[in-house]
Amino acid sequence: METIKTLCPYCGVGCGLEVLPDKNQGWKVRGDRNHPSSQGMVCVKGATVAESIRTERLLYPMMRDTLDGPFRRASWDEALDAIADRIQAIRCTTGPDGICVYGSGQFITEDYYVAQKLVKGCLGTNNFDANSRLCMSSAVSGYVQSFGADGPPCCYDDLELTDCAFIIGSNTAECHPIVFNRLAKYHKKNPHVKMIVVDPRRTPTAEAADLHLAIKPGTDIDLLNGIAYLLLQSESIDPKFIQESTVHFEEFVQVVNSYTPEFVASRCGISVGELETAAKYWQQSQRVLSLWSMGINQSSEGTAKVRSLINLHLMTGQIGKPGCGPFSLTGQPNAMGGREAGGLSNLLPGYRTVKNAQHRTQVEQFWGLKPGSISPTPGRTAWDMILGLETGEVEMLWIAATNPVVSMPDLERTKAALWRSPFTVYQEAYYPTETSAYAHILLPATQWSEKTGVMTNSERRVSLCIGFDTPLGEARDDWSIFAEVGRRLGFSEQFAFNNSGDVYQEFVQLTRGQPCDVTGLSHEYLRQEGPQQWPCRENEPKHSAKEAKRLYTDARFPTPDERARFSAYHSRGLAEPPDPNYPFVLTTGRVYGHWHTMTRTGRTDKINQLHPEPFLEIHPRDAANLKIKEGDLLEVRSRRGKGVFPAKVTKAIVPGTLFVPMHWGSLWAEGAEANAMTHAESCPDSKQPELKACAVQLVKV
Ligand code: SF4
Repeated sequence: METIKTLCPYCGVGCGLEVLPDKNQGWKVRGDRNHPSSQGMVCVKGATVAESIRTERLLYPMMRDTLDGPFRRASWDEALDAIADRIQAIRCTTGPDGICVYGSGQFITEDYYVAQKLVKGCLGTNNFDANSRLCMSSAVSGYVQSFGADGPPCCYDDLELTDCAFIIGSNTAECHPIVFNRLAKYHKKNPHVKMIVVDPRRTPTAEAADLHLAIKPGTDIDLLNGIAYLLLQSESIDPKFIQESTVHFEEFVQVVNSYTPEFVASRCGISVGELETAAKYWQQSQRVLSLWSMGINQSSEGTAKVRSLINLHLMTGQIGKPGCGPFSLTGQPNAMGGREAGGLSNLLPGYRTVKNAQHRTQVEQFWGLKPGSISPTPGRTAWDMILGLETGEVEMLWIAATNPVVSMPDLERTKAALWRSPFTVYQEAYYPTETSAYAHILLPATQWSEKTGVMTNSERRVSLCIGFDTPLGEARDDWSIFAEVGRRLGFSEQFAFNNSGDVYQEFVQLTRGQPCDVTGLSHEYLRQEGPQQWPCRENEPKHSAKEAKRLYTDARFPTPDERARFSAYHSRGLAEPPDPNYPFVLTTGRVYGHWHTMTRTGRTDKINQLHPEPFLEIHPRDAANLKIKEGDLLEVRSRRGKGVFPAKVTKAIVPGTLFVPMHWGSLWAEGAEANAMTHAESCPDSKQPELKACAVQLVKV
């Protein structure tokens, strides 16, 4: 076996890995020093990925008639025929909108693309959504509404070129460790560089900051408007940029004018001095780089939060230049590729939308389908699929590479709806997971190391992940399973792919002329030249893989008048604020070692030793009031569900707020599921649920 270059399959940082032969376990991994994003660094998840790959795998298709019956082994033909027959029956009776597919940011771009072609093109329903809906959809809608197109404008080199890192709603040190390593090293070496962290928790990220603003949950917009107010007062703005490259500045100023420091400090639970220091760091910095993640996105006003942050960059002209700009950190390894391939229920490939008639026509023609094949109506989002199961409108749910029985909000309701599902297909590499208990058909999927395809990381860098291991059992690639069902439904021409390279070759053609144009890429090119940032257009001079690319360097935006849009929002606050019956705000998040719902990391000894069990963080003042000691078992109750956790008494959390990690499902810690308590109130624009905050009460067990 030769050394193979690939990508870490965990988070959106997208670190490069090298796979080397190993005499004990066949192969091992190390960081790829030549990968431009990660420069050889990896965190514990990337370093231990080999441990979990070949344990507790789903090896062959299994079927059962009812959810309370036993599974029996089935052949691929039997399982695929049953799926195709059920799809056909639903299409012929109630129509295709009874069919839903729920995918994953773990997909390679090829998986996403083939699923879009099958569901949105051939079946004629837009009911494809992905777990990115729970992760990044507010960033998508914020970028689209402010700039006219999705796509983070920055690159990782900006981490080492900034004067001030403004980190809001992101525990970067634990959730995007290699991004944080790069930033922290640079910050340490350059005393003039400031780091501001906005988070109700004193996380390891906040520990490294020059200024930690421990705001009350849900007051981000107040804070952002408060900083804008002070920047206006001190005239720390870029009038030329505002005049030539933006619109709606006056409306924005009208709103911001009411955010006096005293008002903002009292809303956010910080001092006027802290707010003024944050504004001073912005004023003194030529280049402010804002980093954000779930703390902003997972909110019932997620889009408004994203746009309020972008406002600060527009008013200071800090975008499209080295070291500055608004930069969303993607959760999943290929959530970015999913967006490019149209992998949300309102999108089509190449940053097109289902509502746009011209976009639908372009895609229908490209796919060789009749005019009108693609529905103009956005499909069901992740939570809408659960609601559709409740009402009976969803007659078939096909879940792939994700574990909604842990990651969805309001878990009791989610589980009850899934239990009612007439027909659920679950395509997954591992068995069991919490979701496999709710499936009628289980399909074994290949995973990282066994399949070849493309992923895009947070800085728009596209890498080829090369399959180097033999698939276990009868596992097949996700894209090939979707394609096989398409062929069984009579769409042989549309799914005549021999391999994932063919799929990618077709996909890139649909990006031609679009913001995410990758017509210059192919599997072969990526294999030879290494990772590339998009845009990467055909026949354009190729730039060096190490040369960073930013968007909007000419201060022109992909809107009809080429100007970015200011937004003007007052905060609506939390969807479920605390009250006398439910006096605490529960916030959820991640720990350094575990990944999402632990499907892989729960099977990795080293990581389980690092984080053996879930816990609940409570401030010493709240603990004293309730006579709670470290390690006491506490029952947390919301209006929807409850969980029991050992107490961790710490000043790392603000009084009145509690924290539990979101990773543990019933398979790993029965009765300690964070999402048993959360609710599904969502942002009206992005449809992303407010997984970050709900009102709870606390009882000592
Ligand atoms: Fe993998 Fe993310 Fe860790 Fe990099 S930072 S090694 S991509 S989990």
